[in-house]
Amino acid sequence: MSNTDFSASLLRWHDIHGRHDLPWQTDMSAYRVWVSEIMLQQTQVATVIPYYQRFMQHFPDITSLANADLDKVLHLWTGLGYYARARNLHKTAITISTDFAGIFPKDLDTVMSLAGIGRSTAAAILALSDNQHHAILDGNVKRVLTRYFAIDGWPGKKTVEQILWQHAEALTPATNTAQYTQAIMDLGATVCTRTKARCPECPLQKNCLAFANNSVANYPTSKPKKTIPVKTTTMLLLRNNDNHVLLQQRPPSGIWGGLWCLLEAQCDATQQAVSAWSLKELKLSIDNINIATPLRHTFSHFHLDITPVYASVISETPAIMEQADTVWYNTSEPDARGLAAPVKKLLDTHNDAIAGATT
Ligand code: SF4
Repeated sequence: MSNTDFSASLLRWHDIHGRHDLPWQTDMSAYRVWVSEIMLQQTQVATVIPYYQRFMQHFPDITSLANADLDKVLHLWTGLGYYARARNLHKTAITISTDFAGIFPKDLDTVMSLAGIGRSTAAAILALSDNQHHAILDGNVKRVLTRYFAIDGWPGKKTVEQILWQHAEALTPATNTAQYTQAIMDLGATVCTRTKARCPECPLQKNCLAFANNSVANYPTSKPKKTIPVKTTTMLLLRNNDNHVLLQQRPPSGIWGGLWCLLEAQCDATQQAVSAWSLKELKLSIDNINIATPLRHTFSHFHLDITPVYASVISETPAIMEQADTVWYNTSEPDARGLAAPVKKLLDTHNDAIAGATT
């Protein structure tokens, strides 16, 4: 199959079977596509849609996003994970507002220079919103191409990625680039899926090498496994007389940057150690201390085993509330602030925990 036949087959298939009613396909603009592309990194379409719609209601354009508090942006992102994406969206909106008069740039290199936008994302934004002739190479496209050409090796490896880029560029047509880009993404998402690829429905089947060799499941080659380290921490769910929980905002950069978290006790997870640490470091006397079962949160490069410690504050100095980065958080009427995912999980079970701690 020639490159032209490849794209023509995909385009014909897409006309009938592609996705044409995704929220970012209406009123299409570089801004709307950009937000969708960032949300879709590491996240399925079905999960993204309600987050996307809510985000657009609050921030319908670059200016409204640039003028928003980062806290509000992170709040609307709570549950999507990978918060650096939200911080970069906000940062880039400010850059576009100040350096580009609020107009999304149209040049690939300029778009790639913006925070949080790599080569494939930049290409997708410009191809989809402006029909510019650029190839994309996201996870879906990598899967389709490694199977179609039976390319061995983990696609994250530089040499393999270069081969994939060459194929992606050769196959992307100079006309109808927007439709082709959407078509190959849709094929990867709905037909050439990670598991149980639906090859009989695929417009590329006739020339697909993995299909011909009955080796579809071997592609793409998995990332070489390496064991990631385990770190531990003790998180305090300290509640006051109103059953509000003490939260502290993380510094802007680093893990959970800018998000609100439970306080982490730098001590052993024992009643005695936590009590002594709270008194010394926070000037808080606590009782009803309940050490709960640890829960694991996995980052890309390490596991974090969190031991939650529930306790009531029996005496409190005003000093703790004089700090701008701490708040007594009302879990029954939560306000708009970004929470780290495991913290949200712990707060959601907060009321159950109180019952458990006091029985
Ligand atoms: S034939 Fe199967 S493996 Fe090959 S591209 Fe189509 S869906 Fe993917």
